[in-house]
Amino acid sequence: MGLTFQSISGYQAELQAGKTTCEEAVHHYLAAIQQQQELNAWLRVYGEEALEKARLLDQRRQNGHPMGKLHGVVVGLKDVIAYKGHPLSASSRILKDYVSIYNATAVEKLLMEEAIIIGHLNCDEFAMGSSNENSAYGNVLNARDRKRVPGGSSGGSAVAVQAGLCMVSLGSDTGGSVRQPADFCGVLGLKPTYGRVSRYGLIAYASSFDVIGIFGQTIPDVAKVLEVIAGEDEFDSTVKRGTGKPEDNGAISLDPTGGAGRKYRIAYFKEALTHPGLDPEIRDAILSRTNRWREEGHTVTAIDFELLDYIVPAYYVLSTAEASSNLARFDGVRYGHRTEDRNLELTEFYKRSRSEGFGKEVKRRILLGTFVLSAGYYDAYFTKAQQVRKRLAERTDLIFKDFDIIILPTAPTTAFPIGEKMDDPIAMYLADIYTVYANLTGIPGISLPLFVHTNGMPFGIQAMTSRFDELSLLQFSHQMMQQ
Ligand code: GLN
Repeated sequence: MGLTFQSISGYQAELQAGKTTCEEAVHHYLAAIQQQQELNAWLRVYGEEALEKARLLDQRRQNGHPMGKLHGVVVGLKDVIAYKGHPLSASSRILKDYVSIYNATAVEKLLMEEAIIIGHLNCDEFAMGSSNENSAYGNVLNARDRKRVPGGSSGGSAVAVQAGLCMVSLGSDTGGSVRQPADFCGVLGLKPTYGRVSRYGLIAYASSFDVIGIFGQTIPDVAKVLEVIAGEDEFDSTVKRGTGKPEDNGAISLDPTGGAGRKYRIAYFKEALTHPGLDPEIRDAILSRTNRWREEGHTVTAIDFELLDYIVPAYYVLSTAEASSNLARFDGVRYGHRTEDRNLELTEFYKRSRSEGFGKEVKRRILLGTFVLSAGYYDAYFTKAQQVRKRLAERTDLIFKDFDIIILPTAPTTAFPIGEKMDDPIAMYLADIYTVYANLTGIPGISLPLFVHTNGMPFGIQAMTSRFDELSLLQFSHQMMQQ
């Protein structure tokens, strides 16, 4: 049909000019989803409902109603984000028949601006993983090479945008789950500042790290979605309150004056780019791009960052500790999977229900988290990891006194073959080395898909700014993506 819906603004201009309709857009995506079923990106597609909503929007527009900011935009949700009246499983057996009884605040805001939600997307169980191989509902395939993983945990959300199965999608990022799959799939992935977007209605993994993030094809699309879903919420007291200034409420101006000519002070961590685990081709591509940025008048400085080796251990101690507490609610009594065996005493009943409902990786993390919080080991692990987190925050504040942007690789390698790391959880965890830093410190980060590896797979550069400076982050990104 010749329609590709390349950008939200392009699509909405066509809608206004009567060149296409929301219904046509939804039909287009439903056909694409049907054709690409074997990617296993979607857990559920709400086709009829999406078509109905599209017709309603078409009618409203044709009757002269003003268009919402996301009028007709076709969105996919990671299966950890609540959509009222629709199942929500976190890709886990334990939530198999659970149906959301309310909307996540982010979803409420999408709907208020007239977005069309087309379905829920596959992910690692409870968002734990880096390859989408921990889903109870099967692997997601990378559309660029189906023998490779899409990354994780928001693998379905990344592939849906990569393969053109929706315009934009939401994921969640606790330790890299938006940026890393975006990197593996060659799309944009934004993790906003912790506290920029409400976590109400997001299934909790590690509550002091979790944030809803955005996948898209263009920076203006990502900025627009952020603007809609950001902002204070009476249901999440950790969200930053608006100050009245549009950018403090998450408004992003990318117009031609919006930072277009700005010269940035960019830093990268020496230790990160000389790390033995980093693919040399990724290192070289990043270094040569920084040379180009220098020629364009930006400053790029290599700085020492001696804390690099501590960040993955600190992240896995703190996130599993929080997870062990958050996942205690899945007991087979209040909701979720309940064992069939009715002749058990209570403790045995809990154990059986949880053992049947949770997958291997989730169990591993509950055990690890319970261990690091146990009386005899609390100080050795949990307290130490908190100290590392504090040091990181202090160091980061200092860095942003002298610099506007920190850049790092997003991941040490391109998307790896399915199965490669499944028997080696430590290797899987170490692959998060470049992403967990932003979650430990709460700063926003984005993965910019700038390169293609000689192995044919995409990869990019990760950029970060200080907390709540998404405006600079997106303006910088816009500039770098237009080169
Ligand atoms: N890969 C990391 C983990 O397994 C990040 C997950 C996430 O961001 N949800 O914890």
